[in-house]
Amino acid sequence: MATQRIELVEVGPRDGLQNERTVVDTAGKVAYIEALIAAGLRRIEATSFVHPKLVPQMADADQLMKQVPRLDGVRYIGLVVNRRGFDRALAAGVDEVNVVVVASETFSQKNQGMTIDEGVATFADISALAHQAGLGVTVTIGASFGCPFEGEVPTERVADLVRRCVDSGADEVALADTIGVGVPTDVHRLVSAVRQHHDVPLRFHLHNTRNTGYANAWTAAELGVVALDASSGGIGGCPFAPAATGNIATEDLAWMLQRCGVDTGVDLDRLLAASSYVEEKLGRPVPAQLGRAGIFPKA
Ligand code: MG
Repeated sequence: MATQRIELVEVGPRDGLQNERTVVDTAGKVAYIEALIAAGLRRIEATSFVHPKLVPQMADADQLMKQVPRLDGVRYIGLVVNRRGFDRALAAGVDEVNVVVVASETFSQKNQGMTIDEGVATFADISALAHQAGLGVTVTIGASFGCPFEGEVPTERVADLVRRCVDSGADEVALADTIGVGVPTDVHRLVSAVRQHHDVPLRFHLHNTRNTGYANAWTAAELGVVALDASSGGIGGCPFAPAATGNIATEDLAWMLQRCGVDTGVDLDRLLAASSYVEEKLGRPVPAQLGRAGIFPKA
């Protein structure tokens, strides 16, 4: 049976917005984050500290962190891929850093300009510095379910990367289906491979590219993951992965989990309001379904 509580990590302001053509200004992002907090979300990947030329939508990361509301119990995650990004994230006052290590050589080169081993070494450096500074540190293993350039990614490679990152201090590990090729048996396969070495808290980062995101999320829930990433409205993608589409949508996920008796701490009406806000900012309909179909049963 599923865990009774699963934490939803809201990645709309980061993974969601970063692949949108319409640039949302800093004030708009702050208002979006305020709406997400009002909906009960407490752990928010607010931005990424990457080169502004590579991801222009995140160029205001330092500014944004100065303007987000600081409330008890609300934690902001900054995504980083290298030491320079970590230094910026630390100075900007994030509560937690999420470091990406990619499970395929080609994608690792394209996404962050380093080999897999360099990625692990970078994680180890950042992890030590983050812990010294009193920040939480998590790692996301990108392309865990498959690579857009190399195809299948061996299970043992993912499990080995998890083991090395946990040995280097990861507080939590997220397995990312960056390009949305995963199916529920893949979730089983990856969780059992990781569990042979570790009982580290696990999180999944799922994209709904082939409409398997929610099936994968439920499988992960049944296997006892502590957290799931999602973006409100299901916005987003990945600028470096061809044809990647949005994350699983926070409202569709929360509705499903709550109907299954899993507590997410989210207020669905308010979450729909946050998605409507970002929909208006982006000027296009978001992929999430709950806003169109309506919450069942009605309050
Ligand atoms: Mg993603």
